[in-house]
Amino acid sequence: MHYLFSFLLCLSSLVSFSQNPKIKIKHLTGDLYTYTTYNTYKGAVTDANAVYLVTNKGVVVIDAPWDATQFEPFLDSIQARHHQKVVLAIATHSHGDRAGGLAFFKSKGISTYTSKLTDEILKASKAPRAAHTFANDTTFTVGQYKINTYYAGKGHTKDNLTIWFPKDKVLFGGCLIKSTRATDLGYIAESDLAAWPKSIEKLKQKYPDTKFVVTGHDAWGNRESLAYTQKLLREKK
Ligand SMILES: [Zn+2]
Repeated sequence: MHYLFSFLLCLSSLVSFSQNPKIKIKHLTGDLYTYTTYNTYKGAVTDANAVYLVTNKGVVVIDAPWDATQFEPFLDSIQARHHQKVVLAIATHSHGDRAGGLAFFKSKGISTYTSKLTDEILKASKAPRAAHTFANDTTFTVGQYKINTYYAGKGHTKDNLTIWFPKDKVLFGGCLIKSTRATDLGYIAESDLAAWPKSIEKLKQKYPDTKFVVTGHDAWGNRESLAYTQKLLREKK
């Protein structure tokens, strides 16, 4: 009996290990999905959230896997789940957890986009750039869906963009918005702490009705994350 028990224990630890995937894809609402990948930040495994939208003209990916080993599996998963190709990729700021996939996506024939501001930063740091740029506030129409990019102002970085999915009332805040589970503001070496609360205020006013607010890291939820980010910023001062 004892042997059986320890065997089962052993088995269960193996199972939980294999349940730790390098990429997690979850259905959010409608044709929107979130995906989470992992990297090491300050010595700890840290997650990064991003989203994709399945349209009848192909898949639109916002940001890239943070883990380069997951670029190819990510595209394979989309193909297997949705029988669609990724046609458009938008990176919401210049950091690796957002823009790190631009060269890979380009090599796969995907149309890649960043704002002009993000492009300037990528160019200056000699990082791979998107094939196309757009003005901060732009509407992309892909298949049956519209996707709005919105620049609320400086915050986590000077170029952080948000993405609004009007049909589903989903705001992808990226790294401008902190999860209510976050204990601090994260990487702030390039942040503008004075402008950040005002940028969030603009977001609150622009999108008064949201079904979900997806944050760049940690568990996402809804509008409470906007006020929570402002609270973290107040405490920082
Ligand atoms: Zn960032």
